[in-house]
Amino acid sequence: MISADVLIVGAGLSGLCLARELKRDCLLLEKSRGVGGRIATRRIDDLGFDHGAPNLPDDSTIRNLFQEARLHEALRTSSAGVYHPESMTQLPKSLAKGLTIRKSTKVEALRRTASGWELQTDGPEMFLGRDVVLTAPLPQAIELLDRSRISVPDQLRRVTYTKAVMALVITQEVVAPELKCSPRLHSVLSMRERRLHPRGFVVRASDALSEELFDRPEAQALEVLLSEFLACFSTPPALAFQELKKWRYVLPKTHLSVPYTEVSESLWLTGDSFHFGDARGSVVGAKLLAKKLS
Ligand SMILES: Cc1cc2nc3c(=O)[nH]c(=O)nc-3n(C[C@H](O)[C@H](O)[C@H](O)COP(=O)(O)OP(=O)(O)OC[C@H]3O[C@@H](n4cnc5c(N)ncnc54)[C@H](O)[C@@H]3O)c2cc1C
Repeated sequence: MISADVLIVGAGLSGLCLARELKRDCLLLEKSRGVGGRIATRRIDDLGFDHGAPNLPDDSTIRNLFQEARLHEALRTSSAGVYHPESMTQLPKSLAKGLTIRKSTKVEALRRTASGWELQTDGPEMFLGRDVVLTAPLPQAIELLDRSRISVPDQLRRVTYTKAVMALVITQEVVAPELKCSPRLHSVLSMRERRLHPRGFVVRASDALSEELFDRPEAQALEVLLSEFLACFSTPPALAFQELKKWRYVLPKTHLSVPYTEVSESLWLTGDSFHFGDARGSVVGAKLLAKKLS
């Protein structure tokens, strides 16, 4: 059994901010191979695609966070918010320095014991924490709570999220789309402008089209997205590579006004389902919870 005073499930912005500010012994458990959660960069042949949040809100919470991560000098601004031109994952990677994180460790169930919470994972180890914090989007955290037979107030079940279906595309030649693209697309983001890939694009379907394509076979969804992408050009370019990516949880459609909640004794929920209902909620909620638990 591996013990920590506080176990934090998830090493996205929320979990990382919480761990950095907690003045107690803590351990992060993250199911993915890397940190960052919905701030994600896919590498193909050493070149990158920012296919998670491509921007974050341009306000003092996020600017201060980049400063804390010593990345403020690299920060760029667009009409959609602020970003790091060499990939958004620079932010979580930098925030993760010095923290104790168990990657590739998915928490499968929680059980209350006399001394705290016992966490069962998809690996051989069990973890014990006096306090436990779940930082995943509420619907995902609730799946875990339901599986663990921990009761959840109805109000928490009302939080739902938008989805995103996107294509990562590499053209054969360097090209620039002659915007305007169809309103069926949310955005066509050039990875060349991000200094990530000279011929790379992230093509994201609108919320409505994402909803429509989400459960379709991947080849079909990709075909729809590619035809919308090619329609952005008067002379459609030849493609060298295409891949489909899906996010079940992008941003909450509605969120809870509090920064965190204690769903059972010493079992806490926070993340972007709370407070501002976007990445700022993850950061502020985590910082306030760190104060409460320290
Ligand atoms: C395409 C896209 C566009 C976006 N655009 C914007 C935007 O413009 N503005 C904005 O503010 N926000 C945007 N967001 C949302 C933003 O990325 C999130 O608000 C923020 O990153 C949330 O951080 P978090 O730590 O709260 O959650 P997450 O990043 O989801 O982190 C939760 C972590 O928990 C891990 N986890 C989940 N379950 C388990 C388990 N059982 N065991 C172990 N680990 C687990 C996950 O792997 C993940 O790493 C966007 C997101 C996406 C996907």
